[in-house]
Amino acid sequence: MYCASLPGGACTDAQWTSALFRNSIPGALNQVNFEQGYDLTPPSLCLRNSTTCGQGNVPLYSVEAETVKDVQAAVTFAATHDLRLVVKSSGHDYLGRSTAPVALLVHMARFTDVAFTDAFMVGGQNMGSAVTVGPGVHMNDIYQQTKANGKIVVGGTAATVCAAGGYLQGAGHSSLAPLFGLAADNVLEFQVVVASGELLTVNSISNPDLFFALRGGGAGSWGVIVAATVRTFPTFNVTKSVIELGALTNTAAAALARVHAEHIFDLDPVQGGQYYYLEKPGNTSVLTVETITANTTLEQGKALLTPFMNDALAVPDIFFNFKRFRHNGWSRLIPAAAYEAPNGPATVAKVYQELLDGGAQIILGNLVAGGQVSRNANISSAVHPAWRTAKTHLILGSGWDDSASLPEINTLRKWFQTDQVAVLEQLSGPDAGSYSNEADIFEPKFQTTFYGPNYSKLSAIKSKYDPLDLFIVASGVGSERWDEWGLCTV
Ligand SMILES: Cc1cc2nc3c(=O)[nH]c(=O)nc-3n(C[C@H](O)[C@H](O)[C@H](O)COP(=O)(O)OP(=O)(O)OC[C@H]3O[C@@H](n4cnc5c(N)ncnc54)[C@H](O)[C@@H]3O)c2cc1C
Repeated sequence: MYCASLPGGACTDAQWTSALFRNSIPGALNQVNFEQGYDLTPPSLCLRNSTTCGQGNVPLYSVEAETVKDVQAAVTFAATHDLRLVVKSSGHDYLGRSTAPVALLVHMARFTDVAFTDAFMVGGQNMGSAVTVGPGVHMNDIYQQTKANGKIVVGGTAATVCAAGGYLQGAGHSSLAPLFGLAADNVLEFQVVVASGELLTVNSISNPDLFFALRGGGAGSWGVIVAATVRTFPTFNVTKSVIELGALTNTAAAALARVHAEHIFDLDPVQGGQYYYLEKPGNTSVLTVETITANTTLEQGKALLTPFMNDALAVPDIFFNFKRFRHNGWSRLIPAAAYEAPNGPATVAKVYQELLDGGAQIILGNLVAGGQVSRNANISSAVHPAWRTAKTHLILGSGWDDSASLPEINTLRKWFQTDQVAVLEQLSGPDAGSYSNEADIFEPKFQTTFYGPNYSKLSAIKSKYDPLDLFIVASGVGSERWDEWGLCTV
């Protein structure tokens, strides 16, 4: 849609698929499907090669905020004129929460300040080494700057996700989380413009209830973060490995998943983290396993993975070894107990087999829990308690191209609820938690699935800081009072 407004009337293929390009344009989203108004009446679409475009779900107006005063003016204007308000930092959201039709958007991309300190003070107490970042700072930028300062932060995999927007409010997983806890566990302070237009300092002493909510209580529901301060740690050496294993059949892929589950605790001695994903673009599948272990030599890193590799290569129909654009992500947090159970790895294999036989395109596993994530269970924050007992976070994705018909697209969009969640429940158990940042907007019981027992407390905090429901997002706290676009109360 924004391409049509560019000089010459179009953008290049490179721009169309560039996360950085999309980040920089107020109404553009990384998950391009959320720009489409599939559910509007009539549907309002704008595809890659469309010659005429509807507005879709892209907001009508946006504020390219540069200062806190700009944000305050936008929030006050929206409150005064009863406008639908949305906030975007990177536009990477998997639930499309950084857009809405007929809305006013506040774009935070220009908040790119980064400031380091060795002694961050909260209520007179020295909290140690920390960095304060604006919500427009991408992960890659913060990684480069912390590295230059001999420090690291708990951050995510995508270089172009923002370090201080939705990521922190959702929980923020990382391959360093088993070592240092979730990103939200490591926030020391937020600066937030709330619905009244006030700029609040939010930490464990000042507005502690809002601090509780902003750490895990869901993205986009509380106010506009203009800065966040997070702990930094000294740097250390890590070993990173990427293993790709091909499977000729679904049975072989399921056996591979079983072997992987049998070795799920192998990294515990060093509290390593791992992102592993099984993709099935055609007849064969590929399991990619990306592992990061801290303070290990290359030899030690290899030794930690050797038992898994030996068993994996013994699986029939496996070969040592390719990407599909993902439009939706749906997830469940899988308890460590599910892997510890005597039949745990066999159940993993059964779940993978049924998902693949049912046509699953990609199954992502994030070994980003346990360790310090579990030990942080006593932190007062809205992080779903299921994170504290989880070992992995499993995500199912699906994609379609522009030639897909609306009925086909809608079948895929609802697939998790119609078919896949029941399969996953064999592993996660019923009514399991999910990670609200990488999840399904159609979760019927999002209050408990995303927020667990914290929902009523979060609702009370929401009423205090946002009594007019200015900050409403899909499946966010208070959204049950609104239609799916956050435009009309129900
Ligand atoms: C390729 C990719 C990789 C990812 N990797 C990881 C990972 O490793 N770990 C992980 O935990 N997650 C990961 N995610 C998920 C990521 O945490 C979410 O997409 C998150 O919502 C992105 O936040 P954002 O602010 O950058 O995006 P946006 O789409 O701009 O915003 C997301 C949500 O946050 C709100 N928001 C944004 N900025 C602000 C602000 N300044 N103040 C208040 N609300 C705001 C928006 O309104 C929206 O509700 C990944 C996503 C992608 C697409």
